[in-house]
Amino acid sequence: MLTDKSTQTRPADAAAAAISATSAPAAVDLESLICYFQGGYVPMRDAKISIMTHAFMYGTAVFEGIRAYWNADQGQLYGLFLREHVERIRHSCRIMMMEPVPAVDELVAIITEVVRRNGFREDAYIRPSFYKSTKAIGVRLHHLDHDLCVVALPFGNYIETEKGVRVMTSSWRRNADEALPARGKITGGYVNMAFQKSEAEMNGFDEAIVLTANGHASEASAANLFVVRDGVVLTPPVYDDILEGITRKAMIELCRSEGLPVEVRSIDRSELYIADEIFLCGTGVQVSPVIEVDHRAVGSGAVGPIGRAISERYFDAVRGRLPEFSHWLTPIGDPV
Ligand code: PMP
Repeated sequence: MLTDKSTQTRPADAAAAAISATSAPAAVDLESLICYFQGGYVPMRDAKISIMTHAFMYGTAVFEGIRAYWNADQGQLYGLFLREHVERIRHSCRIMMMEPVPAVDELVAIITEVVRRNGFREDAYIRPSFYKSTKAIGVRLHHLDHDLCVVALPFGNYIETEKGVRVMTSSWRRNADEALPARGKITGGYVNMAFQKSEAEMNGFDEAIVLTANGHASEASAANLFVVRDGVVLTPPVYDDILEGITRKAMIELCRSEGLPVEVRSIDRSELYIADEIFLCGTGVQVSPVIEVDHRAVGSGAVGPIGRAISERYFDAVRGRLPEFSHWLTPIGDPV
Protein backbone atom coordinates (compact mmCIF):
# COMPACT_ATOMS: atom_id res chain seq x y z
CA MET A 1 0.00 0.00 0.00
CA LEU A 2 1.25 3.50 -0.83
CA THR A 3 1.32 5.80 2.17
CA ASP A 4 1.76 9.56 2.28
CA LYS A 5 4.63 10.08 4.72
CA SER A 6 3.51 13.66 5.43
CA THR A 7 0.40 12.36 7.16
CA GLN A 8 2.01 9.61 9.19
CA THR A 9 2.13 11.38 12.52
CA ARG A 10 -1.26 13.06 12.35
CA PRO A 11 -4.22 12.25 14.62
CA ALA A 12 -6.14 10.44 11.90
CA ASP A 13 -3.45 7.77 11.98
CA ALA A 14 -5.21 5.55 14.48
CA ALA A 15 -8.25 5.35 12.27
CA ALA A 16 -6.18 4.96 9.11
CA ALA A 17 -4.14 2.18 10.71
CA ALA A 18 -7.34 0.49 11.83
CA ILE A 19 -8.60 0.54 8.25
CA SER A 20 -5.48 -0.93 6.70
CA ALA A 21 -5.07 -3.45 9.50
CA THR A 22 -8.61 -4.75 9.39
CA SER A 23 -9.88 -4.38 5.84
CA ALA A 24 -7.45 -6.96 4.50
CA PRO A 25 -5.78 -8.82 7.38
CA ALA A 26 -2.32 -10.08 6.47
CA ALA A 27 -3.24 -13.59 7.60
CA VAL A 28 -5.97 -13.85 4.99
CA ASP A 29 -5.06 -15.12 1.56
CA LEU A 30 -7.55 -13.06 -0.44
CA GLU A 31 -6.98 -15.12 -3.57
CA SER A 32 -8.21 -18.29 -1.87
CA LEU A 33 -11.44 -16.79 -0.57
CA ILE A 34 -14.54 -18.10 -2.33
CA CYS A 35 -16.56 -15.57 -4.28
CA TYR A 36 -19.52 -15.67 -6.65
CA PHE A 37 -18.58 -14.88 -10.22
CA GLN A 38 -20.27 -15.49 -13.57
CA GLY A 39 -22.87 -17.76 -12.01
CA GLY A 40 -20.58 -19.99 -9.92
CA TYR A 41 -18.63 -20.16 -6.65
CA VAL A 42 -14.89 -19.89 -7.36
CA PRO A 43 -11.68 -18.85 -5.59
CA MET A 44 -10.97 -15.15 -6.03
CA ARG A 45 -7.87 -15.98 -8.11
CA ASP A 46 -10.20 -17.33 -10.82
CA ALA A 47 -12.53 -14.30 -10.83
CA LYS A 48 -11.04 -11.89 -13.35
CA ILE A 49 -12.62 -9.36 -15.68
CA SER A 50 -11.31 -7.74 -18.85
CA ILE A 51 -9.88 -4.22 -18.75
CA MET A 52 -12.42 -3.50 -21.52
CA THR A 53 -15.32 -4.12 -19.11
CA HIS A 54 -17.73 -1.18 -19.23
CA ALA A 55 -17.98 -0.98 -15.42
CA PHE A 56 -14.20 -0.67 -15.17
CA MET A 57 -14.00 2.06 -17.77
CA TYR A 58 -17.01 4.14 -16.70
CA GLY A 59 -17.85 3.22 -13.09
CA THR A 60 -21.13 1.65 -14.22
CA ALA A 61 -21.63 -0.76 -11.35
CA VAL A 62 -23.74 -0.78 -8.20
CA PHE A 63 -22.85 -2.41 -4.93
CA GLU A 64 -23.67 -3.07 -1.30
CA GLY A 65 -21.54 -3.34 1.80
CA ILE A 66 -22.94 -5.86 4.25
CA ARG A 67 -21.60 -7.05 7.58
CA ALA A 68 -21.82 -10.43 9.22
CA TYR A 69 -21.16 -10.63 12.97
CA TRP A 70 -19.70 -13.61 14.77
CA ASN A 71 -21.16 -14.51 18.16
CA ALA A 72 -18.52 -16.68 19.83
CA ASP A 73 -20.78 -17.71 22.73
CA GLN A 74 -23.42 -19.01 20.34
CA GLY A 75 -20.89 -20.26 17.76
CA GLN A 76 -23.03 -18.48 15.19
CA LEU A 77 -22.42 -16.01 12.38
CA TYR A 78 -25.23 -13.51 11.71
CA GLY A 79 -25.74 -11.63 8.44
CA LEU A 80 -27.05 -8.13 9.22
CA PHE A 81 -29.98 -6.69 7.24
CA LEU A 82 -29.46 -9.05 4.30
CA ARG A 83 -32.91 -8.54 2.78
CA GLU A 84 -32.69 -4.76 3.14
CA HIS A 85 -29.34 -4.66 1.34
CA VAL A 86 -30.64 -6.92 -1.40
CA GLU A 87 -33.71 -4.72 -1.85
CA ARG A 88 -31.50 -1.64 -2.09
CA ILE A 89 -29.15 -3.15 -4.66
CA ARG A 90 -32.17 -4.09 -6.76
CA HIS A 91 -33.28 -0.44 -6.60
CA SER A 92 -29.78 0.70 -7.58
CA CYS A 93 -29.98 -1.71 -10.54
CA ARG A 94 -33.26 -0.19 -11.63
CA ILE A 95 -31.78 3.32 -11.53
CA MET A 96 -28.83 2.08 -13.61
CA MET A 97 -30.96 0.17 -16.15
CA MET A 98 -29.68 -3.24 -15.09
CA GLU A 99 -32.65 -5.55 -15.37
CA PRO A 100 -33.62 -8.29 -14.97
CA VAL A 101 -31.93 -9.17 -11.70
CA PRO A 102 -32.51 -12.22 -9.48
CA ALA A 103 -35.36 -12.10 -6.95
CA VAL A 104 -34.69 -11.03 -3.36
CA ASP A 105 -34.73 -14.60 -1.98
CA GLU A 106 -32.35 -15.83 -4.66
CA LEU A 107 -29.89 -13.00 -4.00
CA VAL A 108 -30.01 -13.59 -0.26
CA ALA A 109 -29.31 -17.28 -0.92
CA ILE A 110 -26.28 -16.50 -3.13
CA ILE A 111 -24.85 -14.10 -0.55
CA THR A 112 -25.27 -16.49 2.37
CA GLU A 113 -23.79 -19.31 0.30
CA VAL A 114 -20.63 -17.29 -0.43
CA VAL A 115 -20.20 -16.60 3.27
CA ARG A 116 -20.99 -20.18 4.26
CA ARG A 117 -18.45 -21.59 1.81
CA ASN A 118 -15.73 -19.42 3.35
CA GLY A 119 -16.51 -20.87 6.79
CA PHE A 120 -15.80 -17.61 8.63
CA ARG A 121 -15.71 -17.82 12.43
CA GLU A 122 -15.14 -14.09 12.83
CA ASP A 123 -16.78 -10.84 11.68
CA ALA A 124 -16.99 -10.55 7.90
CA TYR A 125 -17.74 -8.01 5.20
CA ILE A 126 -19.74 -8.92 2.10
CA ARG A 127 -19.69 -6.95 -1.13
CA PRO A 128 -22.23 -7.91 -3.81
CA SER A 129 -21.96 -5.93 -7.02
CA PHE A 130 -23.88 -5.80 -10.28
CA TYR A 131 -21.69 -4.43 -13.03
CA LYS A 132 -22.05 -3.56 -16.70
CA SER A 133 -20.15 -6.51 -18.08
CA THR A 134 -20.11 -5.76 -21.82
CA LYS A 135 -16.67 -5.06 -23.24
CA ALA A 136 -17.41 -1.79 -24.98
CA ILE A 137 -16.29 1.78 -25.42
CA GLY A 138 -19.11 4.31 -25.24
CA VAL A 139 -20.55 5.96 -22.18
CA ARG A 140 -24.21 5.01 -21.70
CA LEU A 141 -26.50 2.88 -19.57
CA HIS A 142 -28.58 1.13 -22.22
CA HIS A 143 -27.83 -1.87 -24.45
CA LEU A 144 -25.25 -3.31 -22.10
CA ASP A 145 -25.17 -6.66 -20.30
CA HIS A 146 -24.77 -6.88 -16.56
CA ASP A 147 -23.52 -9.55 -14.21
CA LEU A 148 -23.34 -10.24 -10.48
CA CYS A 149 -20.28 -10.85 -8.34
CA VAL A 150 -20.09 -11.28 -4.57
CA VAL A 151 -16.95 -11.19 -2.46
CA ALA A 152 -16.72 -11.77 1.29
CA LEU A 153 -13.76 -11.32 3.59
CA PRO A 154 -12.92 -11.17 7.29
CA PHE A 155 -13.34 -7.60 8.53
CA GLY A 156 -13.07 -5.62 11.76
CA ASN A 157 -13.79 -2.02 12.73
CA TYR A 158 -13.65 0.44 9.84
CA ILE A 159 -13.00 3.49 11.99
CA GLU A 160 -12.50 4.06 15.69
CA THR A 161 -15.84 3.65 17.46
CA GLU A 162 -14.84 3.70 21.12
CA LYS A 163 -13.22 7.06 21.72
CA GLY A 164 -15.13 9.06 19.13
CA VAL A 165 -14.11 10.58 15.80
CA ARG A 166 -13.01 14.04 14.70
CA VAL A 167 -14.63 15.40 11.56
CA MET A 168 -14.37 18.38 9.23
CA THR A 169 -16.89 19.89 6.85
CA SER A 170 -15.76 18.95 3.39
CA SER A 171 -15.08 21.61 0.79
CA TRP A 172 -16.60 19.14 -1.70
CA ARG A 173 -20.38 19.15 -2.05
CA ARG A 174 -22.49 16.01 -2.16
CA ASN A 175 -23.40 14.94 -5.68
CA ALA A 176 -26.99 16.02 -6.17
CA ASP A 177 -29.87 13.73 -7.13
CA GLU A 178 -30.22 15.54 -10.46
CA ALA A 179 -26.54 14.90 -11.26
CA LEU A 180 -25.62 11.49 -9.84
CA PRO A 181 -28.22 10.15 -7.41
CA ALA A 182 -26.79 9.42 -3.96
CA ARG A 183 -29.80 7.18 -3.39
CA GLY A 184 -28.27 4.67 -5.80
CA LYS A 185 -25.15 2.97 -4.51
CA ILE A 186 -23.33 3.56 -7.79
CA THR A 187 -19.63 2.79 -8.00
CA GLY A 188 -18.78 5.88 -10.07
CA GLY A 189 -20.58 8.09 -7.56
CA TYR A 190 -18.16 7.02 -4.86
CA VAL A 191 -15.43 9.14 -6.39
CA ASN A 192 -17.34 12.06 -4.81
CA MET A 193 -16.90 10.41 -1.40
CA ALA A 194 -13.27 9.60 -2.16
CA PHE A 195 -12.57 13.33 -2.62
CA GLN A 196 -14.20 14.02 0.74
CA LYS A 197 -12.57 11.20 2.66
CA SER A 198 -9.07 11.95 1.38
CA GLU A 199 -9.43 15.66 2.06
CA ALA A 200 -10.50 14.90 5.65
CA GLU A 201 -7.80 12.31 6.37
CA MET A 202 -5.03 14.32 4.77
CA ASN A 203 -6.04 17.28 6.95
CA GLY A 204 -5.76 15.12 10.06
CA PHE A 205 -9.45 14.27 10.59
CA ASP A 206 -11.12 10.89 10.67
CA GLU A 207 -14.15 11.71 8.54
CA ALA A 208 -15.87 14.36 6.44
CA ILE A 209 -19.30 15.90 6.84
CA VAL A 210 -20.64 16.73 3.42
CA LEU A 211 -23.07 19.53 2.57
CA THR A 212 -25.75 19.52 -0.11
CA ALA A 213 -25.55 22.07 -2.92
CA ASN A 214 -27.76 24.39 -0.85
CA GLY A 215 -25.70 24.02 2.28
CA HIS A 216 -27.50 21.48 4.45
CA ALA A 217 -25.54 18.80 6.25
CA SER A 218 -26.18 15.67 4.19
CA GLU A 219 -24.08 12.84 5.58
CA ALA A 220 -20.49 11.66 6.03
CA SER A 221 -18.36 10.16 3.26
CA ALA A 222 -19.85 6.70 3.82
CA ALA A 223 -22.18 7.08 6.78
CA ASN A 224 -25.41 8.81 7.76
CA LEU A 225 -25.56 11.66 10.23
CA PHE A 226 -27.40 12.00 13.54
CA VAL A 227 -27.41 15.14 15.69
CA VAL A 228 -28.82 15.44 19.21
CA ARG A 229 -30.24 18.80 20.29
CA ASP A 230 -32.16 19.28 23.52
CA GLY A 231 -32.91 15.57 23.85
CA VAL A 232 -34.27 15.28 20.28
CA VAL A 233 -32.41 13.07 17.80
CA LEU A 234 -32.27 14.70 14.34
CA THR A 235 -31.29 13.18 11.01
CA PRO A 236 -31.40 14.66 7.48
CA PRO A 237 -34.29 13.64 5.21
CA VAL A 238 -33.94 11.43 2.13
CA TYR A 239 -34.26 14.52 -0.11
CA ASP A 240 -31.00 15.97 1.25
CA ASP A 241 -28.95 13.80 -1.10
CA ILE A 242 -28.21 11.04 1.35
CA LEU A 243 -27.81 7.37 0.70
CA GLU A 244 -30.96 5.96 2.27
CA GLY A 245 -28.96 4.13 4.90
CA ILE A 246 -30.10 0.83 6.30
CA THR A 247 -28.32 1.52 9.58
CA ARG A 248 -29.99 4.96 9.63
CA LYS A 249 -33.38 3.26 9.58
CA ALA A 250 -32.26 0.88 12.32
CA MET A 251 -30.98 3.83 14.40
CA ILE A 252 -34.38 5.50 14.18
CA GLU A 253 -35.98 2.23 15.32
CA LEU A 254 -33.44 1.87 18.13
CA CYS A 255 -33.78 5.47 19.35
CA ARG A 256 -37.56 5.27 19.38
CA SER A 257 -37.43 1.95 21.26
CA GLU A 258 -35.35 3.78 23.90
CA GLY A 259 -38.05 6.46 24.15
CA LEU A 260 -35.95 9.10 22.36
CA PRO A 261 -37.85 11.45 20.04
CA VAL A 262 -36.50 11.37 16.47
CA GLU A 263 -37.10 14.16 13.97
CA VAL A 264 -36.22 13.85 10.29
CA ARG A 265 -35.40 17.33 8.98
CA SER A 266 -32.70 19.33 7.22
CA ILE A 267 -29.75 20.26 9.43
CA ASP A 268 -27.73 23.46 9.06
CA ARG A 269 -23.93 23.42 9.29
CA SER A 270 -23.95 25.72 12.34
CA GLU A 271 -26.27 23.32 14.18
CA LEU A 272 -23.38 20.89 14.22
CA TYR A 273 -21.37 23.41 16.25
CA ILE A 274 -24.01 23.73 18.98
CA ALA A 275 -25.18 20.11 19.04
CA ASP A 276 -25.17 18.23 22.34
CA GLU A 277 -24.10 15.06 20.51
CA ILE A 278 -23.40 13.86 17.00
CA PHE A 279 -22.98 10.35 15.76
CA LEU A 280 -22.44 8.67 12.40
CA CYS A 281 -23.86 5.34 11.43
CA GLY A 282 -23.46 2.91 8.60
CA THR A 283 -22.50 -0.64 7.82
CA GLY A 284 -18.80 0.25 7.80
CA VAL A 285 -18.57 2.77 10.65
CA GLN A 286 -21.28 0.97 12.65
CA VAL A 287 -22.10 3.64 15.27
CA SER A 288 -19.36 6.23 15.61
CA PRO A 289 -19.84 9.13 18.04
CA VAL A 290 -18.32 12.40 16.84
CA ILE A 291 -16.38 14.40 19.45
CA GLU A 292 -15.15 17.31 17.33
CA VAL A 293 -16.41 19.20 14.24
CA ASP A 294 -14.25 21.80 12.48
CA HIS A 295 -12.06 22.24 15.61
CA ARG A 296 -15.10 22.74 17.88
CA ALA A 297 -15.81 20.22 20.62
CA VAL A 298 -19.15 18.47 20.35
CA GLY A 299 -20.88 18.84 23.72
CA SER A 300 -18.27 18.13 26.39
CA GLY A 301 -15.78 16.88 23.78
CA ALA A 302 -16.21 13.28 24.90
CA VAL A 303 -18.61 10.56 23.75
CA GLY A 304 -22.07 11.63 24.98
CA PRO A 305 -24.62 9.53 26.89
CA ILE A 306 -27.06 9.02 24.01
CA GLY A 307 -24.33 8.07 21.53
CA ARG A 308 -22.83 5.66 24.05
CA ALA A 309 -26.16 4.05 24.96
CA ILE A 310 -27.29 3.68 21.35
CA SER A 311 -23.97 2.27 20.27
CA GLU A 312 -23.97 -0.33 23.08
CA ARG A 313 -27.51 -1.40 22.16
CA TYR A 314 -26.52 -1.58 18.49
CA PHE A 315 -23.50 -3.81 19.12
CA ASP A 316 -25.57 -6.12 21.33
CA ALA A 317 -28.31 -6.28 18.68
CA VAL A 318 -26.00 -7.08 15.74
CA ARG A 319 -24.30 -9.89 17.66
CA GLY A 320 -27.63 -11.57 18.36
CA ARG A 321 -27.75 -10.69 22.05
CA LEU A 322 -31.11 -8.84 21.94
CA PRO A 323 -34.05 -11.05 20.96
CA GLU A 324 -36.21 -7.99 20.22
CA PHE A 325 -33.88 -7.16 17.30
CA SER A 326 -33.49 -10.70 15.94
CA HIS A 327 -35.42 -9.59 12.84
CA TRP A 328 -32.26 -7.66 11.83
CA LEU A 329 -30.29 -10.91 11.56
CA THR A 330 -30.00 -13.96 9.33
CA PRO A 331 -28.06 -16.88 10.85
CA ILE A 332 -25.50 -18.14 8.32
CA GLY A 333 -24.43 -21.77 8.48
CA ASP A 334 -25.06 -24.11 11.39
CA PRO A 335 -23.91 -23.12 14.89
CA VAL A 336 -20.51 -24.67 15.74
N1 PMP B 1 -23.97 7.04 3.12
C1 PMP B 1 -23.07 6.59 2.25
C2 PMP B 1 -22.58 7.50 1.19
C3 PMP B 1 -22.59 5.26 2.34
O1 PMP B 1 -21.70 4.81 1.47
C4 PMP B 1 -23.05 4.44 3.38
C5 PMP B 1 -22.52 3.04 3.53
N2 PMP B 1 -23.26 2.13 2.78
C6 PMP B 1 -24.01 4.95 4.26
C7 PMP B 1 -24.45 6.26 4.10
C8 PMP B 1 -24.61 4.10 5.33
O2 PMP B 1 -25.51 3.21 4.73
P1 PMP B 1 -25.80 1.78 5.35
O3 PMP B 1 -26.25 2.00 6.75
O4 PMP B 1 -26.90 1.24 4.51
O5 PMP B 1 -24.56 1.00 5.29
